[in-house]
Amino acid sequence: MFPNFIGGQWHAGADATDNVNPSDTRDVVGVYARASAAEATDAIAAAHHALANCQAMTPQARSDALDAVGSEILARKNELADLLAREEGKALPDAQGEVVRAGQIFKFFAGEALRVAGELLASTRPGMTVEITREPVGVVSIITPWNFPIAIPAWKIAPALAYGNAVVFKPAELVPGSAWALAEIISRAGFPPGAFNLVMGRGRDIGDVLLSDPRVSAITFTGSEGTGRKVAQAAIGRAGAMAKFQLEMGGKNPLVVLDDADLQTAVNCAINGAYYATGQRCTASSRLIVTNGIHDRFVAAMRDKLATLPVGDARAAGTVIGPVVDAKQRQQDIDFIALGAREGGQLVVGGEALEVVDGKPGYYLRPALFTATTNDMRINQEEIFGPVACVIRAADADHALAIANDTRFGLSAGVVTTSLKHAAHFKRHLQAGMVMVNAPTAGVDPHVPFGGRKSSSHGPREQGRHAVEFYTTTKTSYVQP
Ligand code: ADP
Repeated sequence: MFPNFIGGQWHAGADATDNVNPSDTRDVVGVYARASAAEATDAIAAAHHALANCQAMTPQARSDALDAVGSEILARKNELADLLAREEGKALPDAQGEVVRAGQIFKFFAGEALRVAGELLASTRPGMTVEITREPVGVVSIITPWNFPIAIPAWKIAPALAYGNAVVFKPAELVPGSAWALAEIISRAGFPPGAFNLVMGRGRDIGDVLLSDPRVSAITFTGSEGTGRKVAQAAIGRAGAMAKFQLEMGGKNPLVVLDDADLQTAVNCAINGAYYATGQRCTASSRLIVTNGIHDRFVAAMRDKLATLPVGDARAAGTVIGPVVDAKQRQQDIDFIALGAREGGQLVVGGEALEVVDGKPGYYLRPALFTATTNDMRINQEEIFGPVACVIRAADADHALAIANDTRFGLSAGVVTTSLKHAAHFKRHLQAGMVMVNAPTAGVDPHVPFGGRKSSSHGPREQGRHAVEFYTTTKTSYVQP
């Protein structure tokens, strides 16, 4: 059994979960400990106890430890990508990209640990000076989803440790393998015992402890909107001090294709953005908003391309679309596809569940494309989180922009155009945290802010140097000599 890591020790735990390969359900990746509420409390106590040691660690020592983690991830990228693809089902090239990104993030924050800056100002009062400094926020609960099993943990854990906090990390129960491998690397990197704790388990068993223990000062969460709201309520509704919280939730990201777009660029952006990683990205382009003049050519090209996209075992050579992560998620996708048809959408290609591919039983689903949909349909308003995209016809660029913004989400948005004027206008007016011009809505750099608006996100941005906002707290000191 792969154990939990609490207070610098490995703990087997009373219970365990099988980690099942969605590309071949006969294959059990490993058996992983499931923490109890008491163990989660022990992890918080250990983190709380370690705070003084975390803060005493010099920036250079923190930087060296993070750099060592990043170097090891990069050195073991093939092995870690294979594990990631095996437990989560994303195609191997995507898994490799994700692992490299996790390594780069640790390297980035190794640099940031040395660059924590303050400000010194003259006071409005005579002779006085004012200092603005940043301090660690304290114990941070980190709760992550299954769709990026190593990159999302990396982009929360690395800044938390860089700025001198202690961490209690709970990965998603479906993908404990990559999280465990990352934890094992961190366990040897030189952080004090208790600075980093891993508690694998179900949200309903230990989630409440991670949210409500008064020793937790900050909670960072990526997952569904519903759970995100519970996190927010727990963070502000607790008996003791409220916790700082940061939420990354859903998206219903538009990709606008204008009449003057290069057709091949539009198709490449849409195929990659909507279907890679089996559409299981919060930045996926689930709404393809296409103006009249290019609509029919775009749909025909998409249909041809989708019919040839290889669906199969995530680790098999040539696979582009791996399986859906589990049976429950695939059923949800299938239910949305049926709903789309009932709502009047036209399923032009895909949508069939495949029980066996190349002799392997798995949660396969052919990528589905709807046309003739309208933006008010539920399939265009609710996050599906699978290989399903809907084309919405727009009269012109203004109409397309209005549709793009008519959603309660605001994570990522894209436009495909050869016009500088349109590009500038959409860049300015798309209501999203991230805007892509002639690029897929998914797939972002590791060193710049990530996050959205409206119901997609809450709190400071993640990643890049903006991460300092969440993982530190500001102190203003007045000094009269
Ligand atoms: P997803 O659809 O990505 O699984 P969830 O929001 O259900 O979205 O899960 C994201 C993370 O939140 C997972 O690690 C899950 O275990 C955790 N989680 C689920 N319910 C709770 C809860 N009530 N409190 C805290 N964490 C939870």
